[in-house]
Amino acid sequence: MSSYDESQERFEEFLRTYKDDQGSLTYWTKVQQMSINDEISLTIDFQDLISFDNVFLALAAEDPSKFIETINSALLAVLRVEDPDYVSSIDATSLKARISNYTEHVPLRAIRSKHIGKLVRVSGIMMRASEVKPLLVQAMFQCRICDEKIPQTQEEGRYTEPVRCPLCDKKTPMRLLAQESQFRDWQKVRIQESPEELPPGQMPRSIDVIFEGDIVDLSRPGDLVKITGILQTSPDFSRR
Ligand SMILES: [Zn+2]
Repeated sequence: MSSYDESQERFEEFLRTYKDDQGSLTYWTKVQQMSINDEISLTIDFQDLISFDNVFLALAAEDPSKFIETINSALLAVLRVEDPDYVSSIDATSLKARISNYTEHVPLRAIRSKHIGKLVRVSGIMMRASEVKPLLVQAMFQCRICDEKIPQTQEEGRYTEPVRCPLCDKKTPMRLLAQESQFRDWQKVRIQESPEELPPGQMPRSIDVIFEGDIVDLSRPGDLVKITGILQTSPDFSRR
């Protein structure tokens, strides 16, 4: 059994047994109410999680993507047992255990290359928000020659078509069948250093944040927001 299998079981145990100061089963109650409230994500306060077992501190720091994958799988596993009807009624890949209040807070002007790929908590004022757009996550293509249908998972928003048709073996541009494909809501927002964090006489720094799923349109420009997420780079063509 790998350490990630063990940590998935440990996280399931956290969901089932964690009690707050008043002795309430905080997360278990929320898990049981997800179908009633039509929710596809569960927000976990990271400080609650590491007070339950601080092994999660190391897991989140070492490999954030694997950590998030592990807790998402745990939430799905728990719901499959507790509420199988609800799980079969939703797109299981959209089910998320979301981390809030992560330990490492990084001021926007302190972000460096060492933070890339790491989980960080940032805060600031939301300056602008894009429209909510559909992001293709599971595509259904159709061969233009033989009409064969070919499912294709899209990785991290990169549009990927099958190179050749598996049935007729021809290389041809594929037709995307939107009705049979799965999309997820996507939004890009910009947050900027709040006046409290801004050193005197300095221009405020900003960062773009991608929201996916049920957290789009949750905040509005002007709001002070705190975000836990993985820092990624994107090519900056303006400085070449
Ligand atoms: Zn074909």
